[in-house]
Amino acid sequence: MTQTIAPTCSRTSAATFTGLKCKECGAEYEAKAMHVCELCFGPLEVAYDYEVLRQTVTRESIANGPNSIWRYRQFLPVETDHPIDVGTGMTPLLQANRLARRLGLKRLYIKNDAVNMPTLSFKDRVVSVALTRARELGFTTVSCASTGNLANSTAAIAAHAGLDCCVFIPSDLEAGKVLGTLIYSPTVMAVHGNYDQVNRLCSEVANTHGWGFVNINLRPYYSEGSKTLGYEVVEQLGWELPDHIVAPLASGSLFTKIYKGFQEFVKVGLVDEKPVRFSGAQAEGCSPIAQAFREGRDFITPVKPDTIAKSIAIGNPADGVYAVEIAQKTNGNIESVTDQEIVDGIKLLAETEGIFTETAGGTTIATLKKLVEAGKINSDETTVVYITGNGLKTQEAVQGYVGEPLTIEPKLDSFERALERAQTLDRLEWQQVLV
Ligand SMILES: *Cc1c(COP(=O)(O)O)cnc(C)c1O
Repeated sequence: MTQTIAPTCSRTSAATFTGLKCKECGAEYEAKAMHVCELCFGPLEVAYDYEVLRQTVTRESIANGPNSIWRYRQFLPVETDHPIDVGTGMTPLLQANRLARRLGLKRLYIKNDAVNMPTLSFKDRVVSVALTRARELGFTTVSCASTGNLANSTAAIAAHAGLDCCVFIPSDLEAGKVLGTLIYSPTVMAVHGNYDQVNRLCSEVANTHGWGFVNINLRPYYSEGSKTLGYEVVEQLGWELPDHIVAPLASGSLFTKIYKGFQEFVKVGLVDEKPVRFSGAQAEGCSPIAQAFREGRDFITPVKPDTIAKSIAIGNPADGVYAVEIAQKTNGNIESVTDQEIVDGIKLLAETEGIFTETAGGTTIATLKKLVEAGKINSDETTVVYITGNGLKTQEAVQGYVGEPLTIEPKLDSFERALERAQTLDRLEWQQVLV
């Protein structure tokens, strides 16, 4: 009797990534927990075998995958077929007609990560990937240096995965961000200092404690999670690239990875190539990348943050130079807006589209408006704006800038009188707008 030979591959799945590669000098490394090139100190990035991806991934195979970022597993740096899937990703891409009309645009879309799972910001994408890889690399304690959202996400997803968790935040964060971490019962270190000081401390802890810091020693894996913000938009636009994207910049990682995501889909034949303009948004009180762009510099001068947009307040952005490079070569822009414009941006998005975003989203909407008014986005460009976080977490930012409820007695006539007052007020407001 002839014996049938079983396939020789005994692994449950094949990794499509081949290792780490220095973005500066190209030196290659094994896919371990490291993020800096030992030869030139450049940042390390995950490398893939795109020939394998071209041959194995189709639009159909992606569409048949899970309704989460893990439908793009082959483009993510994990080996397992059982990643940590808490429903992260596949957030709505909303056609924003009312906001578009207000600004004078024809085709505007909002990628709404304000409703991402489980912690209502885009950070759930990067953390899902980083913690899946952390587990593969054998880490039992995970950590991060956070401006708020990353701590929420790391604590929540670590809880789900049963990993020990210790997070570091600046001590002056918004109450919603702090509570939104504490609820998962991690160890929380609130550091007297700004994010850049927190980050420096964490680099030292990473060197001395064998922990997996999602945005330090696991950063190459973490940052790949942001590519899914590019993939999803392509898929949700019906396998097409947009003409222009606007996204917020903190370290600049998210911005550069949306770019990498688009490029990869072109490279493996999932979408037709076309030029996409990349524009970035910063708060004036922390705008080192916008300043470098404005002055045509290829280096970043660090700043000390002073803005209500705390989630994107990074004074010394690790990927700043790459963000500038992308905005330059795609004919995009990087702009900054004031704290008042950020509040107005939050309100504008809420009033026109029914989306309550946090300060980072207010920064992005205000920047979109500024770019349109300056003629730097054309009305017929298909434009996608990335809304990365939820407004319920930064309520302090809009306190005093919203109306008051009309307090009434539980009686019909009390209601009628209040309604009349409201309508009079409303008419007055309209008259002010009309004159
Ligand atoms: C972290 C964060 C960003 C930007 O992230 P980078 O990848 O560091 O540029 C944008 N928006 C929100 C809400 C964030 O929390």
